[in-house]
Amino acid sequence: MSWQQRIDTALAERCAASAFRKRSPVSLGAGRWLTQGDQRWLNFSSNDYLGLSQHPQVVAAWQRGATRYGTGSGGSGHVTGYSEAHQQLEQQLAEWLGFPRALLFISGFAANQALIAALVGRDDRIVADRLSHASLLEAASQSQAQLRRFTHNDPQQLAQLLAKPIDGLQLAVTEGIFSMDGDSAPLAEIAAVTKAAGGWLLVDDAHGIGATGEEGRGSCFSQQTKPDLLVVTFGKAFGLSGAAVLCSETVADYLLQFARHLIYSTSMPPAQAVALSEALKVIRSDEGEQRRQILLDHITRFRRGAQQLDVQLMDSQSAIQPLIVGENARALSLAESLRVQGCWLTAIRPPTVPAGTARLRVTLTASHQPQDIDHLLEKLYAACR
Ligand SMILES: *Cc1c(COP(=O)(O)O)cnc(C)c1O
Repeated sequence: MSWQQRIDTALAERCAASAFRKRSPVSLGAGRWLTQGDQRWLNFSSNDYLGLSQHPQVVAAWQRGATRYGTGSGGSGHVTGYSEAHQQLEQQLAEWLGFPRALLFISGFAANQALIAALVGRDDRIVADRLSHASLLEAASQSQAQLRRFTHNDPQQLAQLLAKPIDGLQLAVTEGIFSMDGDSAPLAEIAAVTKAAGGWLLVDDAHGIGATGEEGRGSCFSQQTKPDLLVVTFGKAFGLSGAAVLCSETVADYLLQFARHLIYSTSMPPAQAVALSEALKVIRSDEGEQRRQILLDHITRFRRGAQQLDVQLMDSQSAIQPLIVGENARALSLAESLRVQGCWLTAIRPPTVPAGTARLRVTLTASHQPQDIDHLLEKLYAACR
């Protein structure tokens, strides 16, 4: 088979399974409205949970940062790319979340890849929740460690897998709030069984951080659990991008030696670090608390209304409210008919989610108005009939 044949075959298979992915460029995509030229839709696809991507204070901070530092960082953090702005942000994150150290990464994907690649080796075992994000599972399967997956949110099965004999060390992996289901992991139990087995726990709280908990400290804080390694990302409630790993002094020093994504990659622009510090300030403030409360009210409103729908609502108390429709083609046609009626939401299909569980992934944000939720529900009633 030639390269061209291989590519043509793969594309043809995707098309036949209604799983072909396309992008569509937006004018604005993160806020209440998604706009393309002079058209607009109510936006139920954005992870900008608190609406901070449009926050004047955060935008001004980025501009101020660019005026002071210029645009790029000029190199990796080991060369010129670690500015005072990066250092301050790391210190603020560590203090906020109660860890000795924080290390910044360019993205959550890079943080997870770097962390797993730097930590685990040939005799080790990673035991990950079956529904963990692709960045975690891919890093784990590319590592030399054994990868075992435990049934979603099942600490008992995790304990059983951890109990199997092993020469090396064990790393348990889960998310705080799951990106495609919106439900929360039982973190205290997961931490307890991991500790009992002598392993370390890595929690990726991409969807919890900023959006939940006192001062937005996220899932671990809400569940009074301290993992050994915490990954937080800034593409969701922070309204920006980037990520951080929260850890001990020695793990931070270790990652600075061995995490290749830190050593061989340009660090985030200093201006972005300035903007992230500002976003953190808003997240921790009364205003952040009000935004979290608005989001919670929207979640309650949506769930109450969606009980009557002829599609399955999931057990989620988070901003992610998936509606399981089953077949790929049905998910696509529902998303399309909602789009025609002014609501933008995404059909999520395998391989992102298990086969037969294609869904409409509704995300709610603090920039929605209550009538936006009612409008969506009305259109959903009509479309699902
Ligand atoms: C979004 C997400 C990531 C990736 O983070 P990026 O900063 O977008 O690369 C990692 N883990 C989880 C659970 C996510 O939802």
